[in-house]
Amino acid sequence: MGRLDGKTAIISGAAAGIGAAAARRFAAEGARVVLVDRDAARVAAVAEQIGPMASHVAADVASEDGTRRYVEAAVERHGGFDILLANAGILGLVKPIADYPVDVFDAVISVNVRGVWLALKHAMPQLARRGGGSIVVTASTAGVRGSAGLSAYVASKHAVVGMMRTAALEGAAQNIRVNSVNPSPVETAMIRELEDGLDPQSREAARRQLQSRSPLGRYASPEEVAALMLFLASDESRFVTGGVHMIDGGRTAM
Ligand code: NAD
Repeated sequence: MGRLDGKTAIISGAAAGIGAAAARRFAAEGARVVLVDRDAARVAAVAEQIGPMASHVAADVASEDGTRRYVEAAVERHGGFDILLANAGILGLVKPIADYPVDVFDAVISVNVRGVWLALKHAMPQLARRGGGSIVVTASTAGVRGSAGLSAYVASKHAVVGMMRTAALEGAAQNIRVNSVNPSPVETAMIRELEDGLDPQSREAARRQLQSRSPLGRYASPEEVAALMLFLASDESRFVTGGVHMIDGGRTAM
């Protein structure tokens, strides 16, 4: 018996990294998964690999039109959904605030903040109609602490935590639970971007520096993050809402 048998989940940012790992795990646990990503070819390929439990929608989460399309697709295909994993996000650049380009700041806020807010706005009424459900948003250790050079990303992930808490309060009466998952560096394309930004001369040196900041001394795997998402998405976490769930090898205990 799967831990998500009979459930339908929307997963954004599902063409790669954490979102693709969550899509595979949720489907293996019995959920029908609607995969959303702006990379149409890659999200189609991940859906095809997963098989009949998966379908996909090519959409930009920062667009209201795109958000309506993926929410409506889940309702039309499956009669509704029980789980939303609002996971799509971008890093932006690694630069001090004084040198940070305004257009990159706007792009990071648009995807990471507006994208999550639009997902909440359009998904919550559907979950209420369904009698409730679980929303998981991907924040970061950057959602609870600062990080030099990452002002836009840090601002966006603090905002994600604030939106999650607000949505948890607004959704409780309708049995909608909302939680954030806050990883430290995870082995995905995004962490390669961060390594390149931190030390353009040596990705390996940046990697060593980042890993040395973790008490467990390594990055997380996307599958480890997906396992926490699975718990929060499933009914096993039925009394858990409004929580900031660190998965950081002890980083924020320091
Ligand atoms: P990734 O770059 O491997 O995957 C992100 C996916 O999101 C890509 O497939 C990309 O096409 C998609 N995407 C980006 N912008 C989009 C948009 N506007 N509309 C639709 N899809 C879009 O990154 P990842 O590491 O898997 O990141 C997933 C989430 O985890 C992000 O929110 C990220 O901030 C967060 N996170 C990552 C790390 C890490 O170290 N990798 C750590 C903490 C938090």
